[in-house]
Amino acid sequence: MSHNPRRQFLTQTAALAATPLLAGVAGDVFAQAPARKLGVALVGLGSLATNQIAPALLKTRNCRLSAIVTGTPSKADDWKKKYGIPDKNVYDYKTMNRMADNKDIDIVYVVTPNSLHLEHALAGAAAGKHVFCEKPMEISVERCQQMIDGVKKAGKMLGVGYRCQFEPNHLECVRLAKEKVLGDLKVIDANFGFAIGDPTQWRLKKDLAGGGCLMDVGIYCLQTARMLTGEEPVWISAAETKTDAVKFKEVEETIMWQAKFPSGVVVSSVSTYAANGLAGFRAATARGWFGLEPAYFYGGNRGRRSDGPEINIQVADQFQTELEDFADCILNKRPTKVAGEMGLTDVKYLMAIYDSVKKGRPVTFS
Ligand code: NDP
Repeated sequence: MSHNPRRQFLTQTAALAATPLLAGVAGDVFAQAPARKLGVALVGLGSLATNQIAPALLKTRNCRLSAIVTGTPSKADDWKKKYGIPDKNVYDYKTMNRMADNKDIDIVYVVTPNSLHLEHALAGAAAGKHVFCEKPMEISVERCQQMIDGVKKAGKMLGVGYRCQFEPNHLECVRLAKEKVLGDLKVIDANFGFAIGDPTQWRLKKDLAGGGCLMDVGIYCLQTARMLTGEEPVWISAAETKTDAVKFKEVEETIMWQAKFPSGVVVSSVSTYAANGLAGFRAATARGWFGLEPAYFYGGNRGRRSDGPEINIQVADQFQTELEDFADCILNKRPTKVAGEMGLTDVKYLMAIYDSVKKGRPVTFS
């Protein structure tokens, strides 16, 4: 996977960004360690689980990697050795129901292809586990709703892996917008893309991915728009373009959308699987601007504001942060800020973007 440009651009600054802060906060983190760490079962041992989530779970103060679910037996052997996972905590997708009697597991973290999230989330919930699900939550509003209903019925908590909701540089931008530090927010330009490799991968298959670059990375720009405005769009208008009709036979290669928000803010966004180099946003305000470039990497996100100061808050591992928050929510019985409803709402707008492309006109929301 080292040839994968997606991983390279996301990881290139992560190590640099994470190290100093971790050293700085370690004392506090361990001082607060609870008596028992919640056990997390990782479902799907692909790139994100291997390179980001499992390493993050070695650092989390209130949860730990306790179990794995995989369809690939050779991976199970490697993970058992690497993370000291006992045989009894190894499952495949068909045996997840057996988790019900395993007290080592409190949370299932679903990291499989998008259209498998529902099945794996429901299996975890039915076994009496809380569910943390990667973005996009699922490939249709109906399937998101089924996940919400299923986890609710089980009396468990559901969270979606929106790491930027906890990223301090993003939160600083939300503060600048909300407090109108540079005046009213007027225009947001948010873009994210990468040149996708292997033409056979699931990200290019509609039934597994639900769509292309929009579902995968465009969702971050939508999140930025909703976070900065604190509003929901009035209308969305979109168009797509393809330069490789063979590779992108099933899903979009590049998609552009614009949206208007109730306060009058307009948002413009491009997501693409055709090129590297787009991974930031800029917000124009009545008296200036602010933004992050890069905004969406695993580490090293930073930016500027027009009145001078850099926005460059060193952050802990984003996956560690979101997982510790979810575990805190469970332990302290407080709602998560990245609830299933947020995931469903995003999927509603993603579907509206596709609908607008298909119809060739804006889609409005009442
Ligand atoms: P990968 O393709 O690297 O891994 C997916 C894993 O899912 C596979 O390795 C496999 O694990 C399992 N799997 C089960 N069924 C299938 C199937 N039919 N086809 C392919 N894989 C299958 O994907 P990623 O790790 O990059 O992405 C997984 C999820 O995480 C996606 O929803 C994605 O959107 C999200 N993601 C989120 C990111 C973030 O920053 N929050 C970043 C990257 C991805 P096994 O062999 O163990 O069964």
